[in-house]
Amino acid sequence: MTNTIVIAELNKGSIHSTTKELVSAAQMLGSSCTVVVPCTDSSVADSISSTSGVEKVIVAKSDIFANYDASGWASAIDSVTPEGIIIASASPQSKDLAARLAARRKVSVVQDVVAIQDGKLTSPVYSGKAMQTVSMSGNAVISVRQNVFDASPDGGSAEVSVIDASGNVATAVRELIARASARLDVSEANIIISGGRGMGSPDNFSHLEQIADTLGAAVGASRAAVDTWDDIPHSMQVGQTGKTVNPNLYIAVGISGAIQHLAGMRSSKYIVAINKDPDAPIFQHADYGIVATWEEALPVLQSSLSAMM
Ligand SMILES: Cc1cc2nc3c(=O)[nH]c(=O)nc-3n(C[C@H](O)[C@H](O)[C@H](O)COP(=O)(O)OP(=O)(O)OC[C@H]3O[C@@H](n4cnc5c(N)ncnc54)[C@H](O)[C@@H]3O)c2cc1C
Repeated sequence: MTNTIVIAELNKGSIHSTTKELVSAAQMLGSSCTVVVPCTDSSVADSISSTSGVEKVIVAKSDIFANYDASGWASAIDSVTPEGIIIASASPQSKDLAARLAARRKVSVVQDVVAIQDGKLTSPVYSGKAMQTVSMSGNAVISVRQNVFDASPDGGSAEVSVIDASGNVATAVRELIARASARLDVSEANIIISGGRGMGSPDNFSHLEQIADTLGAAVGASRAAVDTWDDIPHSMQVGQTGKTVNPNLYIAVGISGAIQHLAGMRSSKYIVAINKDPDAPIFQHADYGIVATWEEALPVLQSSLSAMM
């Protein structure tokens, strides 16, 4: 029987909903699922111990988990995690952690898994131009994209143990100074509306922000927008050299659909494209396409959404 160990994904001190999706993935790979929760406050583990399919919860408690630090986290988590297949989220931070855990344990890492069938893992390669399916022999570390699996429902009652994970850590990050932004980050969002160079000017992103506020969405951008305008930060960039996202709904406005942009958003559940050029490549990947300028389309979209909400 294969042990599976889920590394809980945390967001601002609470367990992120994707952790229950990771438990579903774990159930497809093994029989006994343990969840390791790296945290500073052990009460955060309550929400995961009642999840169906979780047999054991190991709360790895340490001050170092206040801020991400690659080597400190990998060392601390490795020291409390049992042998088995380790499953983490495919967020940028957890992909980094996954690779480091795999290196420490001298096992393979498979990143960005989007399907599991008969113990085989499918993930995109070459910026999403192809999909690979690999089988595992023995233990490995895998990262799973958000929104791929249904969340495991409530209904479990796992045994919870709390371990002090500070023991072997040489360095820790005391404080992170981030660029202040009140807006939701694209990697956290279930709905994203992104703008490209076709928006014409960074000021016009305010039209995207209005729609984002109505929908509870995050605002993203293409690399051309980020490279052209200083006001559009790299943290908004979606794509090969930006963030990989997997929301339920991705709205691309004034974005041509270059392969490098698609690499970061192609697996979104629904893609809507607004572009004035009917031949724009984005339309080949869109579930719904609107051939219009954003100046025509966005006010109509905004007023329909406001009426609905
Ligand atoms: C190594 C490498 C890595 C890269 N990484 C990334 C990445 O991570 N993310 C990324 O996005 N790109 C990336 N790129 C760049 C990528 O190749 C494209 O250049 C970029 O995605 C184009 O951005 P865009 O679609 O916004 O701009 P454009 O290609 O200029 O397209 C603008 C679109 O807007 C439309 N448009 C114009 N005006 C309007 C209007 N008024 N209303 C509606 N539509 C309008 C046009 O028809 C056009 O389709 C990378 C490139 C390389 C070489």
